[in-house]
Amino acid sequence: MKKIIVQKFGGTSVADTDKIKNVAKIVIREKQNGNDVVVVVSAMGHTTDHLVKMAKALSPNPSAREMDMLLSTGEGVSIALLAMAIQAEGYDAVSFNAMQVGIMTENIHTKARILDIKTDKLRKNLDAGKIIVVAGFQGVTEDGEITTLGRGGSDTSAVALAAALNAERCDIYTDVEGVYTTDPRVVPKASRLDEVSYDEMLELAHAGANVLHPRSVETAKQFAVPLRVRSSFKLDNLGTLILGVDKMEIFKPVAGVAADLQQARIVVCDVPDRPGIAAGLFGKLAKENISVDMIIQSYARKISNTNDIAFTVTLADLPKTLTVLESLKAETGASDIKVDDNIAKVSIVGAGMIDRPGIASTMFETLAELNINIKMISTSEIKISCLVDKSDAHKAVEALHKVFGLECDEIADVKGDLPDV
Ligand code: ADP
Ligand code: ASP
Ligand code: MG
Repeated sequence: MKKIIVQKFGGTSVADTDKIKNVAKIVIREKQNGNDVVVVVSAMGHTTDHLVKMAKALSPNPSAREMDMLLSTGEGVSIALLAMAIQAEGYDAVSFNAMQVGIMTENIHTKARILDIKTDKLRKNLDAGKIIVVAGFQGVTEDGEITTLGRGGSDTSAVALAAALNAERCDIYTDVEGVYTTDPRVVPKASRLDEVSYDEMLELAHAGANVLHPRSVETAKQFAVPLRVRSSFKLDNLGTLILGVDKMEIFKPVAGVAADLQQARIVVCDVPDRPGIAAGLFGKLAKENISVDMIIQSYARKISNTNDIAFTVTLADLPKTLTVLESLKAETGASDIKVDDNIAKVSIVGAGMIDRPGIASTMFETLAELNINIKMISTSEIKISCLVDKSDAHKAVEALHKVFGLECDEIADVKGDLPDV
């Protein structure tokens, strides 16, 4: 049986017809290597952003179902164009949307999880020698409703397809030459990583390194899918391999630094200090599918017997969160709900920080030297995150990247020219 390679191309890689021709050549080259090829594509260029803008111009809070109907159209355009470009080169190709394939998701609009992928149609078409082009980012529920997987979700479509088809590899082609020690657009002297572990990549992705959708890394780890991030434009560079930690040697305590600017902090003030308050609050948010990230509960004040609960959510979930909190205000007896959406989460990540003291204090000292105030802190075994003012985020990333020895002398190429394939 032939090996199956899943390739994914992001928005920049298919931004115009010349770039789509470039993608067609990369796809065909993989087919010429004797492999079966399934290609996942995102919407062209900034299409999804434009669609969001139009929706927001018509309604401040558009319905999630209609957002999915709207946003899923972007990928519909690119799959057909790429299939045509491949056919024009004399190769047999067919495009499918998520409904045609059967990319089944839960019934949650704008951030659905993939539950199952039907493979019969894919296998039949691969057996017939075709190159298959699948729309990323979209799914379908059991009742035939269109869903999307969350911004950046095409990566997850690709990895989930690779897992379902037991593919040899999943290659994520993008506009940078791999995974860097931090966003090379923010720190041009960021270093490209040859390898990074699933766990570190997962933390980096959750911390705002949007080069990979967090759920794609989660899925790759769960199904042990070999995952590579590489450039659509610099084909001589094999990019970054994401793999299990047992296969890696760890040299540095910190592998990468990331910032997430899409966060909001909420403080629920003066709630009674008794059992059940946090459960009631976060239980209600969970029911509305709102993910909470950092949480801090203050010490109870002796006289009033109350405390404050502070937590962060994504900016996208902020309006829904405030609606839920308003409805709970009377129940919890909170005196006030304060919102700060001018914040960012800055994180350092590294499997090498386990059992190595001094990493956290170096991070805090570095921020203090820049007079950056830390508003919240959270940690995991391999990550430390600090909430800071949004205006301090890039300065913080730059300084942390330097202090943990991650800089290199070369300037990263974020968007290369079209190569000769
Ligand atoms: P695509 O459209 O191909 O999915 P994305 O814009 O989603 O591309 O992801 C690639 C971008 O991710 C890069 O251009 C870069 O600015 C950003 N990025 C953020 N953090 C990192 C990182 N640690 N390594 C590489 N790229 C990163
Ligand atoms: N087109 C979608 C987005 O812009 C999905 C993706 O690109 O992965 O978020
Ligand atoms: Mg992306």
